[in-house]
Amino acid sequence: MFSSYQKEAAFALQAVGEAARLCQKIQQEMVLKALSKEDRSPVTVADFASQAVIAHMLQEQFPDEPLVGEEASHSLQLPEQADKRKAVEKYVRQVFPQASGGDVLAWIDTGAGEPADRFWTLDPIDGTKGFLRGQQYAVALALIEKGEVVVGALGMPNLNTKMEEDPDGDGSLVIAVRGEGSWVVEAGGSDFARMQVTSRVDPATVRVLRSYESGHTNVSQIDIFIEKMGITHEPVRMDSQAKFAVLAAGRGELILRLISPSRPDYHEKIWDQAAGSIVIEEAGGKVTDLTGRKLDFTRGSELLGNTGVLVSNSALHEAALAALKAVGADQRPS
Ligand code: AMP
Ligand code: MG
Repeated sequence: MFSSYQKEAAFALQAVGEAARLCQKIQQEMVLKALSKEDRSPVTVADFASQAVIAHMLQEQFPDEPLVGEEASHSLQLPEQADKRKAVEKYVRQVFPQASGGDVLAWIDTGAGEPADRFWTLDPIDGTKGFLRGQQYAVALALIEKGEVVVGALGMPNLNTKMEEDPDGDGSLVIAVRGEGSWVVEAGGSDFARMQVTSRVDPATVRVLRSYESGHTNVSQIDIFIEKMGITHEPVRMDSQAKFAVLAAGRGELILRLISPSRPDYHEKIWDQAAGSIVIEEAGGKVTDLTGRKLDFTRGSELLGNTGVLVSNSALHEAALAALKAVGADQRPS
């Protein structure tokens, strides 16, 4: 299907598909009580199992390439986490039956790689809170070369191929390759459809997507922005990079990741943006930070050179940047 990055794209699709299927099973069978991480975001059995599976598949197919993943196994190794560790092992063995307990921990920890000239970045479950609510989440994997995202894959078990919420279906997978478009396929299927953003600019028709979690953005500033733009639709709340796929499919025009007043120094993590950003760009959309700067993937595991994120259908980008500036949303709160 692709003329460049064929092996990488095939791997990304296969790995994300496998992990998304496992996450779907775990969401159905057990939505466990969340354990607290340092940043207090909940980490579930599925986060660990998804990272173990994808990391091991990467080791097998691209043994020398670093992986920068969100999770690490240290909390799972605590004695009080023995039950959770057993559950992670059980699910990983549904994909790799021979995996030992030690293998599973080691595979999770191959995600502790360093960003390099060429590396992969993984959010094994983006939108853990959505996952725990039984709503939207995404498995997100991307390949970055010299600071440019060149391949991105998203697995969304609770969205159908039209990017409609569909918790009972098989879910969808999205794959993007630089210069070759963004494509959506039903999980387990082979019928790929090209994704394309809308050209809507009329504020009466524009739809804004934002985080479900109010603490991940600035809700009152979004309201002021929306008023400034003359937008009449209420913003749609959705967890994870599923929002990026929805916009790429023409079901939204703007995504705002404003700076939360409770976390004024927050910098976006690369695994929360890399796959989603190439999916948007290859569908004809645009991604910058809130000041109009390109996302800079050369600064380690965070976007240290950027302030928030603005995603659009391209047509609205300049107007949205101007409105963000006018309402002061392009600055970090002091
Ligand atoms: P979303 O579902 O779009 O809110 O994105 C979920 C991601 O937001 C999580 O994976 C976190 O890494 C990230 N996140 C956590 N805290 C913040 C924050 N204060 N501002 C922006 N994003 C955050
Ligand atoms: Mg995430």
